[in-house]
Amino acid sequence: MDGERIIIHCDMDAFFAAVETLHHDLDPEVPLILGSDPQNGRGRGIVSTCNYAARKYGIHSAMAISEAWRRCPGAPIGEGMYMRSTRGLYRRASRKVMEILATEADRFEKASVDEAYLDITSKVDGDWDSALALARELQSRILQRLGLSSSFGIGPTRIVAKMSSEENKPAGIHMVRSGEVMNFFADRPTREVPGIGPSSANRLAEWGIETMDEAYAMGELALARVTSERFAKWAIRVVEGETSNQVSPLRSRKSIGKEYTFDKDQTDMQIVIEKLAILIDKVVDRMRGMGISARVAEVKIRYAGFETHTNHRSIPVAMDEGGIFHRLARRLFAQNCDFDRPVRLIGFRVGGLEMPDTKQTTLDWEEE
Ligand SMILES: [Mg+2]
Repeated sequence: MDGERIIIHCDMDAFFAAVETLHHDLDPEVPLILGSDPQNGRGRGIVSTCNYAARKYGIHSAMAISEAWRRCPGAPIGEGMYMRSTRGLYRRASRKVMEILATEADRFEKASVDEAYLDITSKVDGDWDSALALARELQSRILQRLGLSSSFGIGPTRIVAKMSSEENKPAGIHMVRSGEVMNFFADRPTREVPGIGPSSANRLAEWGIETMDEAYAMGELALARVTSERFAKWAIRVVEGETSNQVSPLRSRKSIGKEYTFDKDQTDMQIVIEKLAILIDKVVDRMRGMGISARVAEVKIRYAGFETHTNHRSIPVAMDEGGIFHRLARRLFAQNCDFDRPVRLIGFRVGGLEMPDTKQTTLDWEEE
């Protein structure tokens, strides 16, 4: 045991849209939708991401671009502004954000292009008030130096820190001290917990379990009877603040992956997405067969002409559930693939592997 830790999770607010807004000096009140060409509502592609003004129309990433157009058309019909994503811009902005964050962390972990975990226990001498002050300081530094808005969550575990950064978005800071974790989960819908997907939450609801404190109140034995032993044990630990508090740079070497090269460079993105789904199933099967779980998902895209891009994203706790990796991969693909370019190869890989004894798990009966 290495004692209580103070973990910060930083999540940039509508990052891609914010970077574009800054770069093109746009009005943040105008709905901005990044993604493939909407073709006046006939476009076949998807939304990569959008700003908060567009979210008010119910637009979100991975939505069909035609649906986004239906909700908020672009010129000359409506006020929506449609743009392609400019990847290089985000990478540069991300590097600057990460530099600011990393300097203040005892241990630092970039979780995605716009998300990071910081272990600041020693930095603030274990003092929660100092931790809150540090988060405020980092938030204002990012705003002042880069003009970008960010949200911070502070907590004793990765899950609590991550969920806290969602609490008061955008430009929010939320702190849950170690003694307040149980209170944090009171009336907390199960579906808000990373690792409990929508279908798991629905299954729990069938048993009358809507919130985390309801799950906790059942006790581990009764909960195990309606879910599984592994899930029950994990859920109890989540509420007690006993899940992982380890922050470490990605161990990308240890990974399991599969790739597929198309016979002819593929221009139909639907086919590429279907192939990706098959690769994910294979990787997850392999992983489960080996009895391990993973914390990092990576999607690799090679375009015609061999230019290759890999993008990864990490989750707060290691999982072995297919649904989670499908969602992560779909999002990574939506946000990073250039839909105008023929694809030569698609690949999927998991990293941050963990062995069974340290594994936290989700509902292992969530199989479709
Ligand atoms: Mg974000």
